Amino acid sequence: MGKKEEKAHALLAASSAKKWIHCPPSARLEASIPEEESPYAKEGTLAHAIGELKLQKLFTDKNMTDRTYKSRLKKLQQDEAYASEMEGFTDEYVDYVSNIAFGFPASPFISIEKRLDYSPWAPEGFGTGDCVIIYGKDLHIIDFKYGKGVPVKAEGNYQLALYALGAYHEFGMLFPIENVHLHIVQPRIPNNSSWSTPLKEVLSWGELVVKPAAEKAFKGEGDFHPAEYCNGNAENYCKAGFCRAYGRCRATAEKNMELFKEAWDEGKNQKKLPPLLTWEEAGELLKKAMFLKDWVQKLEDAALNEIVSGGGVPGWKIVEGRSNRKLSDADAAFAELVQAGYDEAVLYERRPIALGELEKTLSKEHRQDILSKYITKPQGKPTLAPEDDKRPAMVLQRVSAEEAFGGDNTYVDKGGK
Ligand code: SF4
Repeated sequence: MGKKEEKAHALLAASSAKKWIHCPPSARLEASIPEEESPYAKEGTLAHAIGELKLQKLFTDKNMTDRTYKSRLKKLQQDEAYASEMEGFTDEYVDYVSNIAFGFPASPFISIEKRLDYSPWAPEGFGTGDCVIIYGKDLHIIDFKYGKGVPVKAEGNYQLALYALGAYHEFGMLFPIENVHLHIVQPRIPNNSSWSTPLKEVLSWGELVVKPAAEKAFKGEGDFHPAEYCNGNAENYCKAGFCRAYGRCRATAEKNMELFKEAWDEGKNQKKLPPLLTWEEAGELLKKAMFLKDWVQKLEDAALNEIVSGGGVPGWKIVEGRSNRKLSDADAAFAELVQAGYDEAVLYERRPIALGELEKTLSKEHRQDILSKYITKPQGKPTLAPEDDKRPAMVLQRVSAEEAFGGDNTYVDKGGK
């Protein structure tokens, strides 16, 4: 699969461009830390393969017989990461591509899962564009994102802009490209977005921003530059999950400690310190602490991995965590209990499967026509969030004294002396 190949071979991968452009030495540093494939990555790889097959059948391999298509799809459906909801989400991706492709007066040029070489701007740099469409002066780069954790924006997207450079490098001689259109299709959030810019802007970004950063990154030079403090989104290229060095990165540790110290020192500037932290101090400290929480977790994970894999971390050891008792052979135990005279109704309880699992099991049609009628979302528990969090502030339902104590607020003595 394309994305896997990109990660495995390109040091300056397009998907991590934000990181190595802002923090050039991160590329070589990360390469020294083993990568673990998460179940989400497996899911994404499979969804891409299904989307690719559907697009091939529709656009680039029209001679593919129904039989071949079905047998290839069936093979993909047997993958352990498969869930039936992938059909609906990949259909949405195919619909998005179709809307662009069928919107021109004649058939455009379409390439699917195309290796795009942007090495003129970044040494050995290449990536795999999910779908490239070119018609006349317009180049469209469409990226299918199967994740649902972090919404990704098309506007100013480094990964897609690098793909655009790669596509221009490959097809610029064949088509008079002048405009670049970047598209993100992220159906599980849902979050689709597009952004257009003149080709010359992308080329100038390639020369002025990508080239100098890529040269340093490739050589492992330049300064470490932790991301600005922000609320944990795709802009924060350091945060857990984005940079494998995050937990043990010295530059991040220094920055985090500095931030915390700043917040602490600000409070100390007051002449007479009250015994309790003021709410201003608490607010400021909490903001830094939120940032620290994820980082400390990553640091813990790194130390645990080190000890489990045979190394040592001075001052720390591993202990046995909590575990729950379980039956070694539940079927045999229950069969024996039934034989001993216990009623099955006492031994088993019938419970509906969890909503997330149920959604994965149902077809898109049944999710929309049947299940959606029954889904309600109760109000969530109040959760503390910084002021700039994009979720709206929660309005608390305050109970008035009148509601709490009854109509006329008259005290009613319910008896007793
Ligand atoms: S955690 Fe941030 S500062 Fe450290 S190497 Fe990674 S990207 Fe650079």
